[in-house]
Amino acid sequence: MAELPDILIPKAFIAGEWRDGEASYAVTDPASGEVLTEVPDLGADATREAVAAADAAWPAWRKRTAKERANLLRAWYDAIMDHQEVLARLMTLEQGKPLAEARGEVAYGASFVEFYAEEAKRVAGETLPSHGVDKRILVFREPIGVVAAITPWNFPLAMITRKCAPALAAGCPVVIKPAEATPLTALAVVRLAELAGFPAGVINVVTASRPAEVGEVLTGDSRVRKISFTGSTPVGKRLLAQCAGTVKKASMELGGNAPFIVFDDADLDAAVEGAIASKYRNSGQTCVCTNRFLVQDGVYDAFVDKLAARVAELRVGSGLEEGVVQGPLINAAAVEKVEAHIADALDKGGRLMCGGKPHALGGTFFEPTVIADATEEMAVAREETFGPLAPVFRFESDEQAIAMANATEFGLAAYFYASDYRRIWHAMEGLEYGMVAVNEGILSTELAPFGGVKESGLGREGSHHGLDEFTELKYVCVGGL
Ligand code: NAD
Repeated sequence: MAELPDILIPKAFIAGEWRDGEASYAVTDPASGEVLTEVPDLGADATREAVAAADAAWPAWRKRTAKERANLLRAWYDAIMDHQEVLARLMTLEQGKPLAEARGEVAYGASFVEFYAEEAKRVAGETLPSHGVDKRILVFREPIGVVAAITPWNFPLAMITRKCAPALAAGCPVVIKPAEATPLTALAVVRLAELAGFPAGVINVVTASRPAEVGEVLTGDSRVRKISFTGSTPVGKRLLAQCAGTVKKASMELGGNAPFIVFDDADLDAAVEGAIASKYRNSGQTCVCTNRFLVQDGVYDAFVDKLAARVAELRVGSGLEEGVVQGPLINAAAVEKVEAHIADALDKGGRLMCGGKPHALGGTFFEPTVIADATEEMAVAREETFGPLAPVFRFESDEQAIAMANATEFGLAAYFYASDYRRIWHAMEGLEYGMVAVNEGILSTELAPFGGVKESGLGREGSHHGLDEFTELKYVCVGGL
C-alpha cells in the first residue's frame, strides 16, 4: 500500500471545512492499478455550497490590501516549495509522471504563486485625458468576482496554481474542480494554502467523478463571474455554450496539434534534443506536446534516424524508479487512442522506426514510437494523439512547411529549428499559433503569456496578462468640476 503524505486530507474543502460526501470514488495509481484512497464524489448541491462560500468570502477578500494578499500568496509559495518532494511523490503516485518531472512541475506550479504574489501589488488603474474641461476620466481595475477553475489531470498542480494565484492576487475567491483522476495533489496544495493562512471560503475544492453535474452549476450560477478551464476542446466548447446563459466571462486553455518544423539549416542534434523534450515529456500527454514533426527533404532521413535512435533509448517504467523518463499513460482509453493512431498511420503507408505497441511492462505503459513517411491523410495529422507517438512528415519548401503547420483548427504551440535569420523571422510571423518556440523544445514559464488562438482557446495565463483575466475595468466619469 503506497504511503500518502500527512498534508493530504482526502476530502472536499468548502467554506474552510474538510468535508465528506454521501458517496466517494477511488483514486488509483496508473503505474500499478492500486487504489490510493477515496475522495468524496460530490454533485450539484455541494457545488452550490462551495459557490455560496466563495461568494460570502468575496467582500472581505477584495477589501484586503494588495500587500496582505501578496503576503498570503508568498507564504503559500514557501509552503509548496518546502513540500516539493512530498508533493512530487504524491503527483507521481496518482498521475504516473517520472519523479524528476513531478519535482519540476511543483517548482513550475509554485512559480505562478511567487509571481502573482509580486504582481498583486501592481494591479493599477489609470486616469485618461478627458472629453471636457470640467470632467475627469478614471479607470479602476476591480476583481471580477467568484472564479471557477476546472483543471485537467496532466498537470495536477500547475494548472491549479496557474489559475488560482492570479485570481487570488486580483481579489477573487475560487472554487476548484480538479480532474477526477488527480484530485490528491490539488487537495494537498490547497491544504498548504489553508496552513499558509488563507481565510475560509476564499479557496474551495469540489471533488467529483461526474464532472458534468458540477460544471452545470459552475457555468449556470450567476454568482460565478468567471470560468477558467483547461482541458479538451470538446468539453471547453460545451462549457462556453453553458456560460452563454449568464454571459459569464471565460478563459479556455484547450487542445493543440503542435507542429515541430526542422528546416534544412537546423542544428540536427539540438533539434533531436528539443524533439525529445517537446514530444515525450509526460509520456506525450501535454497540450503543448509536439503532435507532428515536419522535416525538410534534405535532412529528413538524417533527422528520422537520429530521432529514432534516441527514442529507442528512452527508459519506460514506474515514475518512482530512478532513471525512468517515461511513465504509464493515464488510463486504458489513452492507450487505445495511441494504438488507433499508430494502426491508422501504418495502414496508410507509415514506416515504423521504433516502438509501436503497448510496453512489455503491461498496464498502461506504452513504447515510445516514431513513424516516418507520415502523410496528411493520417488521423494524426488532424487529431491530438496525447501519447508517445512521433509521426514525421516531409516537406520541400518553407512556404509548404508553414502551410502544413497552419492546416489545423488548433493554434496553441509551434516549434521550429533553423539558423538563417530571414527564415526564422518569416516562420515566426507565419505561424498562426499563440506560442512559438525557436530552437527550443520547452517554452512554458510563469513569465510569459501562455495560451492559444483558433480552437485552442481564449485568454492567457502567466505574466501580467494572466492577471487581466481576473479583473474588470470600471470607467468613472467625474463631472461638474
Ligand atoms: P477533459 O476536457 O476531459 O477534462 C478537463 C477537466 O474538465 C477535468 O477536470 C474534467 O473533470 C472536466 N470536465 C469534463 N467534462 C466536463 C463537463 N461536462 N463539465 C465540467 N467539467 C468537465 O480533458 P483532460 O482529458 O483532463 O485533459 C486533456 C486535454 O486537456 C487535452 O486535450 C489537452 O490538450 C488539454 N490541455 C490543455 C492545456 C492548455 O493549457 N491549453 C493544458 C493541459 C491540457
